[in-house]
Amino acid sequence: MSQQLRKPGFATVAVHAGSEPDARTGAVNPPIYASSTYAQDGVGELRSGYEYSRTGNPTRAALEANLAALESGSYARAFASGMAATDCALRAMLRPGDHLIIPNDAYGGTYRLIDKVLAPWGVEYTVVPMHDLAAVRDAVRPSTRLLWVETPTNPLLNIADIAAVAEIARAASATLLVDNTFASPYLQAPLEFGADVVLHSTTKYLGGHSDVVGGALITRAEALDEAFGFLQNGAGAIPGPFDSYLTLRGIKTLPLRMERHSDNAEALVDFLDRHPKIEQVIYPGLVEHPGHEVAAKQMRRFGGMVSVLVSGGVEAAREFCARTEIFTLAESLGGVESLIELPAAMTHASTSGSELEVPDNLVRLSVGIEDAADLIDDLAQALG
Ligand SMILES: *Cc1c(COP(=O)(O)O)cnc(C)c1O
Repeated sequence: MSQQLRKPGFATVAVHAGSEPDARTGAVNPPIYASSTYAQDGVGELRSGYEYSRTGNPTRAALEANLAALESGSYARAFASGMAATDCALRAMLRPGDHLIIPNDAYGGTYRLIDKVLAPWGVEYTVVPMHDLAAVRDAVRPSTRLLWVETPTNPLLNIADIAAVAEIARAASATLLVDNTFASPYLQAPLEFGADVVLHSTTKYLGGHSDVVGGALITRAEALDEAFGFLQNGAGAIPGPFDSYLTLRGIKTLPLRMERHSDNAEALVDFLDRHPKIEQVIYPGLVEHPGHEVAAKQMRRFGGMVSVLVSGGVEAAREFCARTEIFTLAESLGGVESLIELPAAMTHASTSGSELEVPDNLVRLSVGIEDAADLIDDLAQALG
């Protein structure tokens, strides 16, 4: 075999990392190992390292190896959902009395878990606009152990400067976790900018087909991976082998899909930006977006998520969401099909009345990979 002169590119990694053709059969895809347990040759003598599928499963291991490579990490752990990964990260890294800093527009479920579950157990938190570095610095306390970043955020698409927040975390001897769900590893590599841990809801762009729920934690730090692995096995929120396979199958086309999501989002932004019934378009690719420069520095492109403020208030926004025909009115994001939703009433209903509340005329679009012209026609007719 010829010597590898350069690191393989992202698309090659996406297709190949973590799975060799099956040694026995030559199958090019990893088998779906639907087995909870594994025969032992003698007591404690394992044939290939597997003993029980909560602890380890070969299909899941193939997914984990692929995820680690995609994020240029050394270790990855796959979970039953993004929230299971979030729960594992929080409980592995925080103890009662510890403090964490979270963004003021964190994913609703992340905020709910911290506020309703972690806080009653004695974990303290401060909510800050993560793009405001002075506010982040001010929020640091001696007990701060963890800084939690989402960029772009959901649903306001604010941009945090990963390298700058990493510096604040390092100075505070705290860990920086980046929820990279919205960008996907193809558009943004947080570990390269100094983050310690990357979190994904693999339900979204990584799976990419709205057919599987999953999560992941990726790191280069062995001690963190060990703590995550202890809870992954100890608490058991693992994905099954079929879910692991589906996620891995989705990942193979991630680069192609992200390019198309970004192309389509740009076309829609151009259309919406000039539409009289749209008050404001929020997209990090727009030069007037306050995070545009930082996004351009740390992202390959600006992704498939677009938010808009609809003129005419909440009623007009509700009507817009109800009238689309190609865009499906649904929660979630990152699949091949276009989705539309009203965060204040749907994904972010749990933030109502809190510091994380979102405008009630905000509409979030997850732009799919259909033909851009059809998507534009659909939004045009829905806006009336
Ligand atoms: C969806 C999502 C989560 C939660 O993931 P699930 O797979 O739904 O449990 C976490 N963070 C972000 C940014 C998300 O979009």
